[in-house]
Amino acid sequence: LRLYCGEDLSLRWLFAIAGLALVLPAIFLWGLPSLSGRLIVTGAYFGLLNLACVAVLLRGVRDATRPVMWVSASGFLVLGLVLLLRALFLGWELRSPDAARNAELVMGLTLFVIPLTQVAIGFGMMLMIARRYAEELRRLSLTDKLNGAFNRAGLEGRGGRVLQRARMARRPVSLAMIDADHFKRINDSHGHPAGDAVLRQLADALFNALRPGDLLARYGGEEFVVLLDGTGLAGATQVAERLRRLVEAAPARHEALSIPYTVSIGVASSEGQGHGLVELLACADKALYQAKQQGRNRVVGLG
Ligand code: GH3
Ligand code: MG
Ligand code: MG
Repeated sequence: LRLYCGEDLSLRWLFAIAGLALVLPAIFLWGLPSLSGRLIVTGAYFGLLNLACVAVLLRGVRDATRPVMWVSASGFLVLGLVLLLRALFLGWELRSPDAARNAELVMGLTLFVIPLTQVAIGFGMMLMIARRYAEELRRLSLTDKLNGAFNRAGLEGRGGRVLQRARMARRPVSLAMIDADHFKRINDSHGHPAGDAVLRQLADALFNALRPGDLLARYGGEEFVVLLDGTGLAGATQVAERLRRLVEAAPARHEALSIPYTVSIGVASSEGQGHGLVELLACADKALYQAKQQGRNRVVGLG
């Protein structure tokens, strides 16, 4: 559980916990032979271990697996409490005259609960692992490896939803297509690792300059798309101009190199194109082409 929660696992603790689980029953089997003593001490020990598992899960599971974590956590919790209660009850029963009959009842009840909780724990852990893999696959399939921005599939999925919501609320949405100028030259003169570093810094700069609701996607090799929800063409052109200046003013760094570079930006808006992603992309691409034609390092907005 600690590994699942991203915590470290000390082998010394592992051996100590497993060792005690063997030593405690051994003491009451051969050292001080007593069935009740064994059940009380080992029951309390395993009860506390189960409660410790609940604590690890509550503290450590913070991602999308938290809802399914409760299946295992409740299994651990009930098992821990039942084992502790049984230990308390047996301790108290040792001094009572009808110990044998009542102990049988308690043992019967715990033998009923223990397998049920173990099934909950086992299935819950399988759910947690499956959910975590599913989340990881989803993240990998929708985001770009270079910088964590959305990829094309992510843009289509998330961007499509943003556009649909904006259409229903009659809000404008603008799309800016950002392309690094003469990027081939950067690769050719400084090498591909330097080009990768420039792209990563470009993505970071774009991401940091945008508002939380804006969507950033890597559309192609050195092309990024920004979707601005609630912004019309005039506002989006201003945003694009701000991004363009930002890039121009901050050369990328790679090892000891300072690499100045610029971007051209084509902007399209739902005011002219409607709320379809395909139409917005096509229009922004056309605007970008014009920006390149007009000499690069500039913004062109088309209705
Ligand atoms: P323009 O100003 O017309 O956009 O010129 P450009 O050189 O940027 O455009 P072009 O489309 O001719 O070349 C794009 C280059 O971007 C070619 C490709 O090698 C490079 N590139 C694409 N993706 C990556 C990447 O992930 N890493 C690196 N280092 N280079 C990339
Ligand atoms: Mg390009
Ligand atoms: Mg380019």
